[in-house]
Amino acid sequence: MKLRFELKITLLYLLLGGLWILFSDKLLLSITQNKEALTQLQTYKGWFFIIITGLFFYSFVRKQLIKLERSEKHLEKTNKEIKKVNQTLIRKTREIEQINRELEYSRDKAMESDRLKTAFLENMSHEIRTPLNGIVGFSELICEKGISDAERLEFSSIINSNSQQLLEIIHDILDISSLRTGQVRISNTPVSVSDLLDEIHIRWNKEAEYKSITFPKPHLEKDIILRSDYQALKKIIDKLVHNALKYTAKGSVSLNVFMDEEILNVNISDTGIGIAPEETELIFEPFYQVNTAGKDLNSGNGLGLSIAKEYAAGLKGRVICRSTPGKGSVFTLKVPVSEQLHEISGIPERDEVKITPKAKGKTVLIVEDEFNNYLYLNEILKPLNVNIYHAHNGSEAVEYIRNNPVVDLILMDIKMPVLNGYEATRIIKDLNPEVPVIAQTAHAMSGDREKALESGCCDYLTKPLKREDLIELVTKHLK
Ligand code: ADP
Repeated sequence: MKLRFELKITLLYLLLGGLWILFSDKLLLSITQNKEALTQLQTYKGWFFIIITGLFFYSFVRKQLIKLERSEKHLEKTNKEIKKVNQTLIRKTREIEQINRELEYSRDKAMESDRLKTAFLENMSHEIRTPLNGIVGFSELICEKGISDAERLEFSSIINSNSQQLLEIIHDILDISSLRTGQVRISNTPVSVSDLLDEIHIRWNKEAEYKSITFPKPHLEKDIILRSDYQALKKIIDKLVHNALKYTAKGSVSLNVFMDEEILNVNISDTGIGIAPEETELIFEPFYQVNTAGKDLNSGNGLGLSIAKEYAAGLKGRVICRSTPGKGSVFTLKVPVSEQLHEISGIPERDEVKITPKAKGKTVLIVEDEFNNYLYLNEILKPLNVNIYHAHNGSEAVEYIRNNPVVDLILMDIKMPVLNGYEATRIIKDLNPEVPVIAQTAHAMSGDREKALESGCCDYLTKPLKREDLIELVTKHLK
C-alpha cells in the first residue's frame, strides 16, 4: 500500500512536470517573443509550478493521511471488537469446559449411583430376607406341638428381634429419603450427654459381650448438658457404634466425649478391619460399601454412615473418619453447640407413665380396617379391662359416635377405605370435642404426625405398635 502510494505520487509528479515543460514554453512563446519578458515569465512559471505542485502535494498527501487515519481508526475499532469477541469466546469456551466437567461429574455420579443402587437392591433383598426368614421360620416352629415353654419363649424372642431388625431397615430407608429431601426437623432442646451415652451403651453392650469385644461404659467427670437434638445425636452415635462393633472381630470399641471450645466431640474408636485412605470419604455416600476381604459381606445396607452424615449436617456438624487398614478406625462426630447449660433442671422430665386402674370399664373404640391389627390391639388392651368396640372404617366410626356419644377414647387408623382417619377425626371432634383420639398408623414419614395432630388427634403411634407405648398412651389419655 505504501509503495503504491509513493509510486502514484512520483508518476503523477513526472507526468505533470513533463506536460508542464512541454506545453508551458509553447504557451509563453505564443504570448510574447520579447526575451526579457520571457525570462520574467519563465521565473513566474517556475514559481507557479512549484506553488501548484506544492498545493497539489499538500492536498494529496493530506487526503491520503486522512484516509489512512480513518482506516487506522476503523482498524482499531475492528480490533477492539475482535478482542471483545475473542474475550467472549474465551469466556464461553471456559463456560463450556466447566459445563463439560460438570456433565462428566454428573454422568459419573449417575453411573456410580446406578451401580450403588443395584448393589443396594441386591443387598437389601438379602437384608430383608434374613429377618423375614427368621420371622416366618420361627413363627411356624412356635406353633408345633411338643415344644417346651422355654423353647417357645426363645422362638418368640427370635421373632421379636428379627422383626426389630426388619423395622430398622425400613426406618433407615425412610430416614435417608426424608433427610435427603430436607423433611427432618431438628429440635433444639436440653440434652444430657451422660444420659445419651448411657442409652447407647445399654443398647450395644450385649452385642459387644456376645462378640467378646471390650466396650467400656463411657465415663464423664461431670455431665455435659447442652442444647441440641437428642434423637439426632442418638441416631448418629448409634450408627457409628453399631459399625464399630460390626467391623471389629476382636479387641475393643470405645466411646468418649469432650468439649473443645463450643464444639461437642464424640469419638468412636475400634480395633477393627479399618478403611483404606481413599475410601474414608466415599463411605459416607448412600449405599457405598467397602469391599474388604475380612469384612462380613452381609453386614449392612450401606445407609448407616450417610444417615449419620445427614443428621450431623442437620446439626451443623460433621462426621470425620480416620482409619488404618488392619488396625482400626476412629469416627469423630463434631457438633457446634451454642449454649452449654449448667442447670440439670434444664432437662424436661419425661411424662410419668401411670398405669391407672381407672381404665376399668371405660369405652375404647378401635377404628381399624385390618382385622388382624384389630385383634392385636384388642389383645393388648385386654389387661386394662376396658370395653372395646370395633369400627371398620372412618365412616363407621363417625356413625358410632353419632349414636353413642359416651366413648372415652378412640384408636384411629389413618389409611382406611370409605373415610380415612384424618377426615373421620375432624368430623368426630366436631361431634364430640372432648373425646381423645390417638392416631395409629403405618405412615411413618415425617409430617404425618403433624397431619394427625392438625386433624384433632391428641397423640400419634406408628405401626408396628409396641405394647408398652400403646398402654402408656391409652392410660395417659383415659380420664
Ligand atoms: P453398612 O450398612 O454397610 O455398614 P454404612 O454406611 O454404615 O453401611 O458404612 C459404609 C461402609 O463403610 C461399610 O460397608 C464398611 O465397609 C465401612 N465402614 C463403616 N464403618 C466402619 C468401621 N468402623 N470399620 C471399618 N469399616 C467401616
